[in-house]
Amino acid sequence: MQGAGSTVAPVPLSEIFSSIQGEGPYVGCRHLFIRFTGCNLSCRYCDTPRGEPPGCRVEVKPGTGSFVTIPNPLTPEEVAVLISGVDLGKYHAVSLTGGEPLLYPDFLRELIPLLRGARRGIYLETNGTLFGALESLLHLVDVIAMDVKLPSATGMQPLWEEHGRFLKAARKKEVFLKAVVVKGTPLDEVAVAAGMAEAAGVPLILQPVTAGEPGRLPAPGELLWLQSKALEVARDVRVIPQVHRFCGMR
Ligand code: SF4
Repeated sequence: MQGAGSTVAPVPLSEIFSSIQGEGPYVGCRHLFIRFTGCNLSCRYCDTPRGEPPGCRVEVKPGTGSFVTIPNPLTPEEVAVLISGVDLGKYHAVSLTGGEPLLYPDFLRELIPLLRGARRGIYLETNGTLFGALESLLHLVDVIAMDVKLPSATGMQPLWEEHGRFLKAARKKEVFLKAVVVKGTPLDEVAVAAGMAEAAGVPLILQPVTAGEPGRLPAPGELLWLQSKALEVARDVRVIPQVHRFCGMR
């Protein structure tokens, strides 16, 4: 069933909240996060609950941990109403995150124009595989935080071809690559990611795994060795952990 005023099917959302961006080159920037449910991948380190939540948790006041739950699914207009009290002019961006937001291209096409007002615009956090959906939405997105999934970290088969096609489209906008690394991530995997970043002229962020797998956290020496080797391939390789966790933020 479609909602009043909407031409697309409503979708289930997981949560809407304010926080700092905790990953990548924009760490510390104030973002409004809209978290979608569902994903086409299954990374071993994933901390996103599976299944469709009955309601979307909407934060009442930034950082207080106080939420109200709105029944799912939601239309783009209903999402816009839920964030209408947020002063987006103080925000670096509205972050579309997941799960995988690009599972819902039709919904995003209607939602994104309702989210304007943040200083840098729309920030898409994506697993970097659904290139067809990205191409159809590229004109609506401002910054793309694209994962490169390393098999040693995800436990999945390589996705180099999908990532390559995705990056070919994404590089028309501001984009950076983010690869989660674990203890024992082989150099050849990082080298492929570095090669992709260098070919596209974009930064590569190596993010040590944190979610749920403390035993797999690479040692400082291992991280710096991977970075050093990657810098032989690409000119901009940074090691950035998830910083929001250091101050108890979501
Ligand atoms: S791409 Fe992200 S949401 Fe999907 S399984 Fe991997 S970590 Fe989880």
